[in-house]
Amino acid sequence: MARYLGPKCRLCRIEKKKLFLKGERCNSSKCAITQKKSMPGKSAKSRVGKMSDYGLQLREKQKLKRIYGMLEKQFKLTFNEASRKDGKTGENLIRILETRLDNIVYRMRFSNSRNQARQLVNHGHILVNGKCVDIPSYIVKQNDVIEIKEKSKKSISIKESLKEYTKSGVMPWLEVNPDEMRGVIKAVPLRSEVTDLAEINEQLIVELYSR
Ligand code: SF4
Repeated sequence: MARYLGPKCRLCRIEKKKLFLKGERCNSSKCAITQKKSMPGKSAKSRVGKMSDYGLQLREKQKLKRIYGMLEKQFKLTFNEASRKDGKTGENLIRILETRLDNIVYRMRFSNSRNQARQLVNHGHILVNGKCVDIPSYIVKQNDVIEIKEKSKKSISIKESLKEYTKSGVMPWLEVNPDEMRGVIKAVPLRSEVTDLAEINEQLIVELYSR
């Protein structure tokens, strides 16, 4: 899958917000947003004055897309899928994004960023219900068991990432056994349970794509 390969902190500087794209480093004083670094060149010039409705909608979409590390085409396809489901499209969108396998690997603390989680999936380190799945966009379901492959359990980076489990645990809709490097999807999350995206207004994204 194609993905953004440029500097990640630049994306946060454009959005003027921490998007947590670099794992541990994002909580350190080296973070560009913590250091109050300004918006990069052209972005700063193009954003003088009050933002239009379109600008606000666009920024919201860019933020969400960047948080999940997706490119436009794939994000739009995910939005289209969300719009075909029953219920509110914006909420469906977040639920689909949250149940992507790469996101789940990150949420279960097997990696310290979604980018690293995608690599773990791509390189065949992840089992879903006992079978290797190497597709980051694979959608997990309630009661699915996600596990690190036996051979990969010695990985230093996975062990390091799991230290975050000891500090902060996992989202309430997940259950993880860090010693066995295994977790279960207890439920597909409600929008209100994705607390670290509380600031995102997904309705603006629906309005943007409805233009
Ligand atoms: Fe964003 Fe993390 Fe870079 Fe901070 S350190 S600017 S949160 S990617």
